Amino acid sequence: MKKILVTGGAGFLGSHLCERLVDKGMEVLCVDNFYTGSKSNISGLIGRQNFELMRHDVTFPLYVEVDEIFNLACPASPVHYQYDPVQTTKTSVHGAINMLGLAKRLNAKILQASTSEVYGDPEIHPQPESYWGKVNPIGIRSCYDEGKRCAETLFFDYWRQHNLEIKVVRIFNTYGPRMHPNDGRVVSNFIVQALQGQDITIYGDGSQTRSFCYVDDLVEAMLRVMDTPKEFTGPVNIGNPTEFTMLELCEKILKKTASKSKVVFKPLPEDDPKQRRPDITIAQQALKWKPSVTLDDGLDLTVNYFKKILKL
Ligand code: NAD
Ligand code: UDP
Ligand code: UDP
Repeated sequence: MKKILVTGGAGFLGSHLCERLVDKGMEVLCVDNFYTGSKSNISGLIGRQNFELMRHDVTFPLYVEVDEIFNLACPASPVHYQYDPVQTTKTSVHGAINMLGLAKRLNAKILQASTSEVYGDPEIHPQPESYWGKVNPIGIRSCYDEGKRCAETLFFDYWRQHNLEIKVVRIFNTYGPRMHPNDGRVVSNFIVQALQGQDITIYGDGSQTRSFCYVDDLVEAMLRVMDTPKEFTGPVNIGNPTEFTMLELCEKILKKTASKSKVVFKPLPEDDPKQRRPDITIAQQALKWKPSVTLDDGLDLTVNYFKKILKL
């Protein structure tokens, strides 16, 4: 049985990934310091014979024996990653060095959960992997964006210098059950606000765009990337190319929840990207993958999840 390490395994994406790997019969080691993740995300896995949980901070060295590493540890929502920005950079950079050092010692394959934030506030639309991005190095989002960019640099230097087998995926906005209700991301914010009859907070005029991928599609793509031949390093964009404005998202959620919430407009946060949409040509060709869950279907599943956890 393959032994697989998932860092950040108690988070939103990590918990879905662990679940899929455990169901496939892999031996899964979930490492998390519970900064934004929680035991409740993985409560369904605790007690399963091929699942093990370890509390550990990836900015410190880790000595375990595994065959493959999925490196997801890092807070992902602006509210959380800006709360302690120095720690965010440490997690991305020191975390990457430690996990790459571990992979090097074990000759293990290692996948990095990178992000569309490496493109910053993009001037090229949609974003292909060849685009180098437009990122502010000293702004409030930089701890995350530049941390993730440096992690990509480290992955490619370990590949060039040490011949490590690496896979870099650039994840675009992903949503679904187990998003943290207070993590400040737009899908969870709008749904929670709509369900609780609170004002829906649109930042700016709501004309900015994002392209939302349902978590199951994302996890499927990550598993396929890990199984690509050694020559395939990425970076590869993973996301759903159907693009919406935040106003359109808000309307959809209000309708689905039959909510009477009022819509209010708040200032746009600094460096908030105006548009974002993945070019997924490489993923489609190399992985024979494309997203299959529409925003409407995915939102229905997510609304039901939040109704359950908010006890509505
Ligand atoms: P999340 O915040 O739910 O999960 C991150 C997990 O990492 C949490 O369980 C947290 O406790 C853990 N963690 C944080 N710092 C750690 C540390 N120093 N040591 C050990 N564990 C640590 O976020 P998510 O949405 O599941 O994101 C997972 C990964 O995917 C992140 O690397 C994120 O950058 C990347 N990503 C996510 C999205 C998205 O839309 N969800 C988009 C792009 C990239
Ligand atoms: N490391 C780790 N687990 C291991 C091997 C290495 O956590 O099994 C960490 C260790 O902290 C080291 C870092 O990974 O500093 C980078 O390792 P590498 O071998 O690339 O470089 P080193 O710093 O050891 O020369
Ligand atoms: N946003 C919003 N209202 C909210 C939360 C976010 O209008 O309550 C906007 C935010 O300004 C951004 C978009 O929604 O333009 C997506 O934000 P999120 O934090 O989910 O992701 P990211 O900006 O990292 O893509």
